[in-house]
Amino acid sequence: MQPIETFFPFLNKPFKAVITCHQKPDGDAMGSTLSLYHFLKSLGHNVTVISPTNWAQFLDWMPGVEEVIDFEANRELSTQLVNDADYIFCLDFNILHRTKNLEPVIAASNALKILIDHHQQPDTPNFHYGISDVKMSSTCEMIYDFIVQSGHSNLINLDIATCLYTGLMTDTGSFRFPSTTASVHKIVAHLKELGLQHSKIHENIYDQGSEARLKFMGNAFLNRMQVFPELNAAMMSIPKTDIYRFDLKTGDTEGLVNYLLSIRGIRFAAIVIDREEERKWSFRSKGSFDVNIFARTHFEGGGHANAAGGRSSKSVDETADDFKNIIQEYKTQLTQ
Ligand code: 5GP
Ligand code: MN
Repeated sequence: MQPIETFFPFLNKPFKAVITCHQKPDGDAMGSTLSLYHFLKSLGHNVTVISPTNWAQFLDWMPGVEEVIDFEANRELSTQLVNDADYIFCLDFNILHRTKNLEPVIAASNALKILIDHHQQPDTPNFHYGISDVKMSSTCEMIYDFIVQSGHSNLINLDIATCLYTGLMTDTGSFRFPSTTASVHKIVAHLKELGLQHSKIHENIYDQGSEARLKFMGNAFLNRMQVFPELNAAMMSIPKTDIYRFDLKTGDTEGLVNYLLSIRGIRFAAIVIDREEERKWSFRSKGSFDVNIFARTHFEGGGHANAAGGRSSKSVDETADDFKNIIQEYKTQLTQ
């Protein structure tokens, strides 16, 4: 993979590009793809954002989201666009299989692939240009740097600022995680100078839930949570019946795992959700317990040191039992 700076000169020649991100995009995935989209459009390029799957309703207000193509709902058009592209920008994921069913389409295309990402263990040989930096708070921070370092900070308008802030805010847990550096706050200060309405964005992201979702959460805390104080760990397992009973939509379970870390003493939290094709795990930690390694070792996943995901093809009860057995081996690490 060539360093991202070597790509800057190509920004001056018209091109066709596709921008994509990981499946079930979160605030940072959607924020980074849309901010790059607005930026490349303002340079006059022919650009399309393709999401590998659908996304949470709480992202539906974002500037430009109405132009995003859902690959699973528009396979033919998406495949055509990928095949016609000169460049494919791959944002907020470290390995192509994070684009799920879009992976073979991207892999088969002759377009040059550009990676901009902050996850651990990136598959860099499969990208032509790019930057991977696990110290970055968010991919949105990296898109801001991309725009500034390529000499175009004058092009950051309110739409771009709004999209960038969404990823900065969601991936830093509203600016509380250790990844929140002075640079992050300086970027936000610049975005505020451009007219950013940050309160409105927090409201759009966090205050649009349904009544059923809150009832689902109440039920989850009461009936689906297990705390292991002797291991400083807590877990939740959500059966499919809950998903139907509370009519949950994509994104409705996002953030739930973080609440487990609000219990005094808990440093490792996990949640497993019984999705259609697989059991999806989310892991969070505080301090030195590395959930990226944990997810990689036991649940076919990965991510960051304090936030990672994984999966299992077993039943939700079986994989939850596996988890409870596995964490016993980590007692020393979890309690030191
Ligand atoms: P979440 O638990 O919110 O789905 O994911 C937490 C973090 O881990 C996010 O940065 C997400 O992109 C990453 N992540 C989630 N699942 C996987 C996975 O299966 N593989 C890898 N490499 N990263 C994942
Ligand atoms: Mn991210």
